[in-house]
Amino acid sequence: MPVSKTFTYEVPEAFRALTAVGKRVMVPFRVRQVTGYILDLLDTTDQEGVKSILDILDDQPLFPPSMIRFFRWIADYYLYPIGEVVKAALPGGLNMTQVTRLRITEQGRSVLVDSPMKSHDRQLLETLSNRGPMGRSRLSRTLDKEVPYTTLRSLERAGWIMRERKVQPGRVRPKKERYVRAVADIPYAGSLSQARRKVLGVVDDFGEISVRALKAQVPSAGRLVKKMAADGFLDVFERQVYRDPFGEAIEPGSNPPILTEEQNRVVTTVVEGLDRGFQAYLLHGITGSGKTEVYMAAVAAALDKGHEALVLVPEIALISQTERLFRARFGDCIALLHSGLSEGERFDQWMRIVRKEAKVAIGARSAIFSPFAHLGLIIVDEEHDDSYKSASGGLRYHARDLAVVRAKLEGAVALLGSATPSMQSHYNVQENKFQGLHLWKRIEDQVLPEVRVVDLRQTEGSRRTKPFMTQELKDAISETLGRREQVLLFLNRRGFANCPTCSCCGVPVRCKNCDITMTLHREANAFRCHYCGYTRAQTVGCQVCGSSKIKLLGLGTERVEAEVKAMFPQAEVGRIDRDTTVRKGALVKILKALREGTIDILVGTQMVAKGHHYPKITLVGILCADLSLNFPDFRAGERTFQLLAQVAGRAGRGRQQGRVILQTFNPEHFCIVTASHQDYTAFYENEIGYRRDLQYPPYSRLVQIVVTGRDRDQTARYARRLKEICCALQRENKTYEKEIQLLGPVAAPLARLKKRYRWQLLLKGLKVGPLHGLSRALKARAEREMGKGGVNMIVDVDPVDMM
Ligand code: ADP
Ligand code: ZN
Ligand code: ZN
Repeated sequence: MPVSKTFTYEVPEAFRALTAVGKRVMVPFRVRQVTGYILDLLDTTDQEGVKSILDILDDQPLFPPSMIRFFRWIADYYLYPIGEVVKAALPGGLNMTQVTRLRITEQGRSVLVDSPMKSHDRQLLETLSNRGPMGRSRLSRTLDKEVPYTTLRSLERAGWIMRERKVQPGRVRPKKERYVRAVADIPYAGSLSQARRKVLGVVDDFGEISVRALKAQVPSAGRLVKKMAADGFLDVFERQVYRDPFGEAIEPGSNPPILTEEQNRVVTTVVEGLDRGFQAYLLHGITGSGKTEVYMAAVAAALDKGHEALVLVPEIALISQTERLFRARFGDCIALLHSGLSEGERFDQWMRIVRKEAKVAIGARSAIFSPFAHLGLIIVDEEHDDSYKSASGGLRYHARDLAVVRAKLEGAVALLGSATPSMQSHYNVQENKFQGLHLWKRIEDQVLPEVRVVDLRQTEGSRRTKPFMTQELKDAISETLGRREQVLLFLNRRGFANCPTCSCCGVPVRCKNCDITMTLHREANAFRCHYCGYTRAQTVGCQVCGSSKIKLLGLGTERVEAEVKAMFPQAEVGRIDRDTTVRKGALVKILKALREGTIDILVGTQMVAKGHHYPKITLVGILCADLSLNFPDFRAGERTFQLLAQVAGRAGRGRQQGRVILQTFNPEHFCIVTASHQDYTAFYENEIGYRRDLQYPPYSRLVQIVVTGRDRDQTARYARRLKEICCALQRENKTYEKEIQLLGPVAAPLARLKKRYRWQLLLKGLKVGPLHGLSRALKARAEREMGKGGVNMIVDVDPVDMM
């Protein structure tokens, strides 16, 4: 059971030398034994009845002591038990990869033969002797009774058994390649063969080169290198290389380009900041302005100054361009914490940081917990991205916010970058909490794509039956294909039809577990719920009247693909969404086809908007720009702007100017207008006014409390009871009463999800302190009264003010 307090234990003499902050321990807790983490070492305590730890589970600490303040901060801020925070931070593979087994010693074997002993000790030793080493739980099962730690300890002290700990290595071995470099003193080279001379020449040009690359220039090099090394002309060595998802090795050591004046100015500011303790920067740089080079230069400078650096990137299905570039530039000293890694690989990468073999880490959200001890720089690329927020289960945190917090705690620099910064971060610049930095120019003065807004209301037909493609977009596609260039069609909705509705009774097909319309997937011949995965055969028909006539309303990417194929039969059409990319390797295949030009038209959801460049795409068609605009969320406008600007930025990244056609039912909406001009400032000015008027963040802070339960009435009752408790707390504390507004309870926008009913309450306040105090009190009292089950609190506040 998670506990929110920390506890003090005594360390027995035998363990003293092994004790260190950051190791896991086995301790007695109430009637059980549980795993804990050493967070602090005290010389004395005035607590009474302190129990002893039973075991130390790690040979090496799993995180440096400097991170404990960070963990405590998170536990406090997100109202989450400290032990669970540490657990959430550590790589998941931990328990899987570290096993402790008990083994009988030689001495144990001999006493077994000729000494008297207690019968249960004998039984235990005989089991270990006959069956070989095993863990305590298996031993307990084999003996059919719980083996106490005290028994094991006394047997160990007697020298009859020993514990061995094994860390299972990651399943995937690092890939190594042979390299050569020139030696300092080349032996007399008078009578060298031409091939040998050529090898020397190439090696001289490159300094170091892989044998594979050398072979491309001198075909016989494979054979020659060995002999030449034996003769003292070359030095052969192995180097770890990294695979990219296309299966090509990324060669380390690519040379950085010369930075532009603008880039230089930004890098200089950040590098100067590295010696001055905490500072947060927001780099606003338009797409194609070369932010990645700025990040790499800043990281290189941090390393030069003896700091470690952490780079956060958005979570995407494949390794992003940014990750590839970093790995190529920094080679061996980088740890990669991508979610595509197996648990074993993740654990390996984690321990490389602990052992200081890696000085730079790059990864998605959870990489914010990387166990660095001397962090000097934290970069958050695409800082506005939603994937930095963990939105389901367990510890809910915002990695961008935590980046600023961690930088502050460690006296480091936080550099947040985006082409479309979050409202929050930009506001922090206005408030002088962050320092603003800019890149206004595109590299090599590439022109921004030209965006045309096309009004869908002008097209023929009712809203439900309008053609999804205007004549204008159709013509543009034809032209583009005629020039043998590529087209991207964007629609942020997958499936064939997302609103299948009965023709007879007019009721949409609904999920039985969620308050949601199901989506028809034609490839699967089934209706699917995108929230819980529930699937129904298409042939079943209407669940209300039994009619088999279902109108396929609501357009999805699967249907767009089918219709575009019919419209342009000579074109090759590909699709990227969650359905086409579930199989491993499928996405790589599509991206490769795109790069090689075998795909002419790509249809995709927001998966196409992030992480990858498509240099040959010159036309982007946004089929319906309004989809995310009507979400019941105060950030809907911000999301829409960011998504549209990002998708539009996919056009014309190569030499040709790109073109974007943006179809919309709301051509005058400021999100659409400003996105079409890529005018961030105008968007911000407008949006911030609306936030101010309605007192939404960043002007206020919100804590959302979600109550979920399987029973409809009980859940509603809980939600109402929570309100009463909250009001009572406010009556008891005048500050809470004055500072905090309670909204709700109301049924959540998704009123039922995965069979659970959902209600929500919002606490709104201008100051963090009282809001936080009330949330904490409310949570404690609610848990005491209603049990921990149904109440799930989601804290959504801005941490920058907290410190
Ligand atoms: P952003 O992330 O800001 O959208 P990128 O980092 O992708 O921009 O840079 C756009 C392109 O410009 C990339 O191909 C990158 O290699 C190139 N680039 C960046 N800086 C320079 C530079 N100083 N000189 C030449 N090319 C550069
Ligand atoms: Zn019906
Ligand atoms: Zn469902």
